[in-house]
Amino acid sequence: MADNGMYGARWGGNGREPDSVLFTNVRILDATGEYPYTGEVLVQGNRIKQVSRSGGGARYGGGMGGSGMGGSGLSGGGATVIDGAGATLMPGMIDAHLHLSWNNAPGIDPIQMMEVEEHMLVTMEMAKLVLDAGFTAGRGAAAAKPRLDVVAKKFINQGRYPGPRYLAAGPEITTVGGLGDAAPSHIPHEGLNLGIVVSGPEEIRRVVRTLIKYGVDSIKLNLSGEEITGMGAEETPMSEEEVAMAASEARCRNKVLSAHARSSGSVKQCVRHGIQNIYHASFADEEALDMLEAVKHKHFVAPGLAWLINTARNAGDYGIKPGSPVTALYERELEMAVETMRKMHKRGIKVLIGGDYGFAWTPQGTNAKDIEYFVDLLGFSPMEAIIAATRYGGEIMNMGNELGMIKEGYLADLLLVDGDPIANVRILQEKDRLLAIMKDGKFHKRPQVQSERRRLIA
Ligand SMILES: [Zn+2]
Repeated sequence: MADNGMYGARWGGNGREPDSVLFTNVRILDATGEYPYTGEVLVQGNRIKQVSRSGGGARYGGGMGGSGMGGSGLSGGGATVIDGAGATLMPGMIDAHLHLSWNNAPGIDPIQMMEVEEHMLVTMEMAKLVLDAGFTAGRGAAAAKPRLDVVAKKFINQGRYPGPRYLAAGPEITTVGGLGDAAPSHIPHEGLNLGIVVSGPEEIRRVVRTLIKYGVDSIKLNLSGEEITGMGAEETPMSEEEVAMAASEARCRNKVLSAHARSSGSVKQCVRHGIQNIYHASFADEEALDMLEAVKHKHFVAPGLAWLINTARNAGDYGIKPGSPVTALYERELEMAVETMRKMHKRGIKVLIGGDYGFAWTPQGTNAKDIEYFVDLLGFSPMEAIIAATRYGGEIMNMGNELGMIKEGYLADLLLVDGDPIANVRILQEKDRLLAIMKDGKFHKRPQVQSERRRLIA
């Protein structure tokens, strides 16, 4: 375990933050699946320039543009040297199912009823919370209002607000009476709905085109029910014609589709229509699993376990009492989801973390809890769970060739962690253990420099 007092950092001589950062004396958990090894990682600009193992003899003599970043020539290079003192360096975590506009409120209504001006600011607060928790990227799984995600992503990318790399979603597209259709019959106003309600292929065509016009990266369809809203999780309300239309309209514009798909029928719709990101999938039967396995390289599944667990057991303070009929339904679904995800894992279907955080009983910033659930409930090894939170995350961001691993050429989204997450994945939930958080080559959280222990690398 790393000693908190042991880091040293040496800043470049010109007083400005240099472009290069060299992490020395770190245990590198690169998310390729290899057990962590001791070495050094050089970041130049926003990318990982070089990874070397201790004792391997590789030094940074080449490719530094004459900065002389060799064993002893650092002073002229303007590089920051971070002595990790044995801490773990790993890729930033990635949430496959993120709702930055879910504002930690005690239910769906207070999310939807928040007025848009406050909601935009709260969305940015959530973005910071998630990045503070070591999540340097996330895929938007739906926004509460049409442009919240789009604007959040824009301001994060422009460096105006801290937040993870983000793919923007629009509101969920749903059917009459489906999840997200909350307006009472006597006030049929669409603004009361968390989703956008459609009926028929032409209506869904217009909505998909409109959301793409607003700038979303992905189109989210609600293909199953959700117990808390009154439509059962095992119902599959959207017609084939509607799903096919949404899929073809999204594809024309090179947009990726996601689906809320708890029922077995809805998982099959995802496979039939090429919907890449399948959320929940709790009730997928053997036929659905066979279909999915046959094209497993095309899909990601994120069960959202935190929502199931905490809605069933830990939402009593918010009026969802354990032992009530609705929590019994969530207990049943949790049992099914665990069994189904274990089967998927055995079949080599990619199961990713992302727990539908953003309710009062599943607050944003606790997202790393999912990794613990994968180990404790789904039988993932710690390494497999961390890969589900990093490397596969890069893939679901559609950046698998440059995000989610510590590899030369990859984007420098990195965490310096006090301790060994393979020995205990729970340490990833402890903010104090995240000694440094780097996104795109820049520190969001800077390692604390203890000047009395400042060290030069030999
Ligand atoms: Zn969700």
